[in-house]
Amino acid sequence: MRVGVSAALKGILLPALCVACDAVLSGEDRGLCGSCRSRLLPMSEPCCPRCGVPADSATEPCLGCVASPPPQEGTILWGSYDGILRQAVLALKHRGHDEIARPLGQRMAARIGLAPWFDGITMVAPVPSHGLRRLRRGSSAAALVGADLAATIHRPLKPALRRHGLHRQAGHTRIQRMQLPPGSFSAKPSVQGERVLLVDDVSTTGTTLRRATNSLLSAGAEAVYCIAIAHAPDPRRM
Ligand SMILES: [Zn+2]
Ligand SMILES: [Zn+2]
Repeated sequence: MRVGVSAALKGILLPALCVACDAVLSGEDRGLCGSCRSRLLPMSEPCCPRCGVPADSATEPCLGCVASPPPQEGTILWGSYDGILRQAVLALKHRGHDEIARPLGQRMAARIGLAPWFDGITMVAPVPSHGLRRLRRGSSAAALVGADLAATIHRPLKPALRRHGLHRQAGHTRIQRMQLPPGSFSAKPSVQGERVLLVDDVSTTGTTLRRATNSLLSAGAEAVYCIAIAHAPDPRRM
């Protein structure tokens, strides 16, 4: 395989390290070493098919969803925001390690292939990051993972959502987050009639997924399904 000159030089000057364990990466490894990659595991407990959080049953909606169903038809929160997965997400979100999107996107695609609604998906849309963060960081984690996921499941990736307002969610308490003004997303009319797979990075309370789903449905989407890389039960760990 041909290696670019700059990549080769970089390899000589600065050996690439695993973002999770700091081991020197060998061969074709990018971002994560083989050992850490093999320990990137999906959630093992049963999860509510509607909101995605760990629950008693993987087929029946949880009590929270029975009492107050979310607007999306189904949700998969791929892993628990812990250990190697947390290190990988942080490297992707804040340290510019875009290459982490591929192993994550491919694993999420494998999981989503098992969902009963998988065949109906017509497009993939990432949850957009806040304007300021996007300017600073380039593509958001959700957009990068969404691109790999969409390519793997052979569906078009469409940036169908816009995020409004200057509020940043990290740092807000759960109560503040629940009180952020509704309508902080708007969706393009092109989502009309689509069955959208919405992709986010880390989900805590599910508020972002619900809000983005509502704007897609208001713009005429036929149905929305959600997937996030990880579920963080404790918002302080974002
Ligand atoms: Zn490692
Ligand atoms: Zn639920």
